[in-house]
Amino acid sequence: MATRFIFVTGGVVSSLGKGIAAAALGALLQARGYKVRLRKLDPYLNVDPGTMSPTQHGEVYVTDDGAETDLDLGHYERFTGVASRQSDNVTTGKIYSTVIAKERRGDYLGATVQVIPHVTDAIKEFIRADLTDEEFCICEIGGTVGDIESLPFLEAIRQLGNELSDERSLFVHVTLLPYIKTAGELKTKPTQHSVKELLSVGIQPEILLCRAERPIPDGERKKIALFCNIKHERVIAALDVDTIYAVPINYHEQGFDEQVLRYFNLPTNKAPDLSRWRNIVDRVRQPEGEVTIAVVGKYTSLLDSYKSLSEALAHGGIANNVRVNLKWMDSQVFEDKNATLQLEGVNGILVPGGFGERGTEGKIRAASYAREKQIPYFGICFGMQMAVIEAARYAGGLTKATSSEFGQSDQAVVGLMTEWIKGNQLEVRKANGDMGGTMRLGTYPCNLLKGSKVREIYGIDHITERHRHRYEVNINFRPQLEKAGLVFCGLSPDGQLPEIVERKDHPWFIGVQFHPELKSKPLDPHPLFRSFIAAAVRQGRLV
Ligand code: GLN
Repeated sequence: MATRFIFVTGGVVSSLGKGIAAAALGALLQARGYKVRLRKLDPYLNVDPGTMSPTQHGEVYVTDDGAETDLDLGHYERFTGVASRQSDNVTTGKIYSTVIAKERRGDYLGATVQVIPHVTDAIKEFIRADLTDEEFCICEIGGTVGDIESLPFLEAIRQLGNELSDERSLFVHVTLLPYIKTAGELKTKPTQHSVKELLSVGIQPEILLCRAERPIPDGERKKIALFCNIKHERVIAALDVDTIYAVPINYHEQGFDEQVLRYFNLPTNKAPDLSRWRNIVDRVRQPEGEVTIAVVGKYTSLLDSYKSLSEALAHGGIANNVRVNLKWMDSQVFEDKNATLQLEGVNGILVPGGFGERGTEGKIRAASYAREKQIPYFGICFGMQMAVIEAARYAGGLTKATSSEFGQSDQAVVGLMTEWIKGNQLEVRKANGDMGGTMRLGTYPCNLLKGSKVREIYGIDHITERHRHRYEVNINFRPQLEKAGLVFCGLSPDGQLPEIVERKDHPWFIGVQFHPELKSKPLDPHPLFRSFIAAAVRQGRLV
């Protein structure tokens, strides 16, 4: 079966959960036995989100092959288990750089290079590239219909819809039906306008997914069908749910996957097996206990900055049958010594990834507190580096220990990596090089020390995890750091790069240089998160 393309656009407002909608549709088609791939087309000018602050656009999701991508790819992976690739996220910036590079090479043979057809061709090429036996490719278009930025993308999918014909393309539009309290009604007008907007660029959506906080009365559904020129049964209600992992079940109950299959003339007689999703939702809804984890970070003003992290912590909770309450704390507040009072009563402390000096003394203080009070501590990337600096200062005889990310020092226990090995190749970086796409990115292997806690947690000797960092714990300080109680329990295969440290004198104190949260899934919680939450549960029993 040749790949069928499902294009998902959004209207009315942003933050409608288009990414989760696309991901949940992917999970449903998968549960029906189809092979799926999900892609995101982002209409901004950055080549990738790697150079954007997480408080602007949310977390940067890193793929195995080292692409820095939109956080929606994280939803896709968590819902479908299909590892995203470099070829699954494109931006206006990336498309234009390709087109301009081609123009400079003379590849357009004297033509005037224009948005249509050259930019739209490049977008279409991206959508169809790197697919093999996938039966469905779900492409989400970022932004909201009506934005100037998304026009070339809408034009490209319109053209593609024509080229592929209806048999192989489907347009799904996600909208919002706001509830007006005083009138006691769900309003359909914004949806009508948004569909008109799509029609004005030549796209007639075939299925409407209507986000609403309460059930859509049949009269309203008929009205939407009539005014938007859509079959009545293809106006699907997407009601708010208490957990995102209930979305596939809900969509199925509303007939979303059935309508998609009917549209493509595919059989619908056999119901999909959603038992695994039901099991997760039951666990989320009926936990046997709860734990509180303090997340001490810098980007707490936008929770999307830590999307995969909060999901991975929830997965740890699912694995242990407990609810995980997250206490988001701005690390800067801990620069005041008394602020650690706010950590009293938490069952675990997590210091996540981060960049730059602001708030670091607070993170170091949080690591000290966890060490002294024997509270489970999980340091991820920057959180590991901060724990190492803490150890070096406290008992490693390096009172001025720091990271060269904050300036030059002869006690930089964390230093800039200028050379490392990727596969068979040597990667080289300079201190003043480009910022975009130049970190140590993607999957790297790591060997675990026999007898260590992490070896026991993973249950295997060799692991691979995803990275995104420029600095690394300097192995030359190993003797001082070991003296301070750290065990170098995970190392790169050449033994040069410390990937994991743990403390001997503590019930659960682990720092990892990689981002385990990127690989955690509700159906397959990451071992470190599973174990961290289990330790928090034990800690809760002690107090
Ligand atoms: N700023 C640190 C580095 O570049 C940590 C990065 C991170 O936490 N992802 O190494």
